[in-house]
Amino acid sequence: MTGQHDLVVIGAGIHGAGAAQAVAAAGYSVLVLEQSGVASATSCRSSKLIHGGLRYLESGQFNLVRESLRERDILLRIAPQLVRLVPFHIPIYRHSVHRPWQIRAGLSLYAVLGNLRRHAWFASLPRAQWDELDGLTTRNLQAVFRYQDAQTDDAALTQAVIRSAQSLGAELVVPGEFLAAQRIASGYAVRYRTPLGETESHCTALVNAAGPWINAVLARITPRVPPTAIELVQGAHIVLDGALHRGVYYTEAGDGRAVFVMPWRGMTLVGTTETRFSGDPAQVRPQAAEVEYLLQTFHRYFPQRGMQLRDQFAGLRVLPLAESAVFHRPRETLCCPDAPEQSRLVSIYGGKLTGYRATAQKALALLRAVLPARPARADTAILRLKD
Ligand SMILES: Cc1cc2nc3c(=O)[nH]c(=O)nc-3n(C[C@H](O)[C@H](O)[C@H](O)COP(=O)(O)OP(=O)(O)OC[C@H]3O[C@@H](n4cnc5c(N)ncnc54)[C@H](O)[C@@H]3O)c2cc1C
Repeated sequence: MTGQHDLVVIGAGIHGAGAAQAVAAAGYSVLVLEQSGVASATSCRSSKLIHGGLRYLESGQFNLVRESLRERDILLRIAPQLVRLVPFHIPIYRHSVHRPWQIRAGLSLYAVLGNLRRHAWFASLPRAQWDELDGLTTRNLQAVFRYQDAQTDDAALTQAVIRSAQSLGAELVVPGEFLAAQRIASGYAVRYRTPLGETESHCTALVNAAGPWINAVLARITPRVPPTAIELVQGAHIVLDGALHRGVYYTEAGDGRAVFVMPWRGMTLVGTTETRFSGDPAQVRPQAAEVEYLLQTFHRYFPQRGMQLRDQFAGLRVLPLAESAVFHRPRETLCCPDAPEQSRLVSIYGGKLTGYRATAQKALALLRAVLPARPARADTAILRLKD
């Protein structure tokens, strides 16, 4: 039997979930195909921060920071049980790459891009409070800045968004592996596989939200759409025994990269790395050298704390292919339509967990021209996400 939907979304990570929610909220019928499990890939292996991305100021990505801070505020309102403000600390040592005045300037700009809202305050901690910072070493410490950003449970957030999409009428098939799509007069004929066999569905438009599999999915769509050249860069995290009580720490590894030390489920999460990856995305695992790098960085700043390893995981960033260093590569989401007008296929490359809702709105806007007019069911900027 052949089904019929306005839209088929491939992938149920945060971007697929967000696209499904946006499209269902706009009044359309949507089918989501997920080959493994909701939030089973990148969207359960992030640093779990809902943030503007202070460090993106250095590479001049002001629009990304502004949009992310706006989305952070929306998420704090619509999902207060899933997204919480946490104090972030930036310790500045004699050896640190940045000087206190630079951090002060960066945090001031961050506050301005966040529209100087209530959460935008920052402060330099008095020396008397440095000993209260979870065992952070004070040797050669020159200043500690504190500001606020947010943390979430990435998998739980993705599950909440997909449930919201389902409550608006979206259909979810898990496991449902997208096999191929062929252009037909009314849109696409989509073939997918479930444990019960192969099925076909017709749709007006397609969203490719397959994360690191994005170009593999694109290659299964006829007529062929040229892929955007990308690079997969893995990021590893380790989980250590022992709780952090004061919040998140923004540390600097020996090579100058930022590494976060974060409270996580009563333990300590440390990440991340940047290691070029090739191979099957399903096989991504932290490498021994990455675990060592994270342990060393943690020990450098918290020399008195234990380093009992409880868990480790790695996820893949989808970054545009470029010559520049990975750390400074743009982190903006690319919503790539198959045509400048009358687009029927949008592929979502890269991006941030934080900006999923804005990304979904952009993808929907690109497809509007081919979708029929329908009365909207909800506004995702005010719709509460439930646990
Ligand atoms: C190490 C790391 C740390 C990060 N930290 C942060 C952070 O702190 N804050 C933040 O905002 N962002 C962060 N990000 C970015 C964020 O995690 C990602 O942008 C986001 O999770 C990507 O989601 P996605 O839906 O595009 O991809 P994924 O979550 O990978 O989902 C893609 C889905 O598509 C499915 N799929 C693939 N092929 C098929 C097929 N043929 N048929 C059906 N299904 C298919 C897969 O099974 C998968 O579930 C981080 C990323 C990394 C790698």
